[in-house]
Amino acid sequence: MSIRITFLGTSTAVPTAERNHSAILLNYKEENILIDCGEGTQRQFRKAKINPNKLTRVLITHWHGDHVLGLPGLFQTLALNNYNKTLYIYGPRGTKKFVKELFRVFVPMKKIKTEVKEVSGKFLKTRDFEISSLSLSHGGTPCNGYLFEEKDRLRIDKNKLKKLKLNREEQIKLSELTQGKDIKINNKIIKAKDFTYKQKGSKISFIFDTGICKNAEKLAENSDLAIIDSTFDEKGEELAIDYGHLTIVQAAKIAKKSKVKKLILTHISQRYDNNSSELEKQAKKYFKDSTVAKDFMTIEV
Ligand SMILES: [Zn+2]
Ligand SMILES: [Zn+2]
Repeated sequence: MSIRITFLGTSTAVPTAERNHSAILLNYKEENILIDCGEGTQRQFRKAKINPNKLTRVLITHWHGDHVLGLPGLFQTLALNNYNKTLYIYGPRGTKKFVKELFRVFVPMKKIKTEVKEVSGKFLKTRDFEISSLSLSHGGTPCNGYLFEEKDRLRIDKNKLKKLKLNREEQIKLSELTQGKDIKINNKIIKAKDFTYKQKGSKISFIFDTGICKNAEKLAENSDLAIIDSTFDEKGEELAIDYGHLTIVQAAKIAKKSKVKKLILTHISQRYDNNSSELEKQAKKYFKDSTVAKDFMTIEV
């Protein structure tokens, strides 16, 4: 089962005709997790033909407008659409107060069920995956980076099983092997450890907005996919320091140092709107598998 990432918005504070404000959707099995919800995200959902009622969780990186101004509208729509699950909302310090205010002002009549948590470290463990957060360095604003880690899984080694020549009925029992349990067929014990192999779970890191910091590297470490802040081009180092962001080169260097497999650069300033390919070239000098994000780009991990 793959993890599907959809880029709903890839701009910085000012949107352009091509780029909407920050929002990324992660789909995995029944889970639809929205990472940030900039202004206009609802319309991006419509264009991407994704029903927002399918959302299960929202991860907020920080409370700058370009990452959260879409929340009140999204909450209103979910309330109007009779969203009937509990929406889990996670964010940095201050998130409980801000979410409560948004509901008080914008969704006073019809509520939806929510559970809001201010998180740091590992905060969610399910049967299939875990999510943790580390704080980033963004000019004093509390800001969380996130790491989604799929759990390792046992897979059946079909080549080895072929030799046992099992009939259909016997094959149905095999799923227990993937839970590490030995099974018995025709008085013969089939050991899980002999007929399965471990498939490594995927790691996806979300690192924005931030300047250079140790936690950015920690989150990125060995990620199959790292999505990193890239507000400025290679000449923008001073601006990046002033505003608590990264240049495209700094992001690429983090990916290389942290042994990332694939890097996607997002949070692209309007000044580079017509120049994505030049930005990508700058990143590739330091990290080969670099791609500059576009709105509605999807990737499967
Ligand atoms: Zn931002
Ligand atoms: Zn910001």
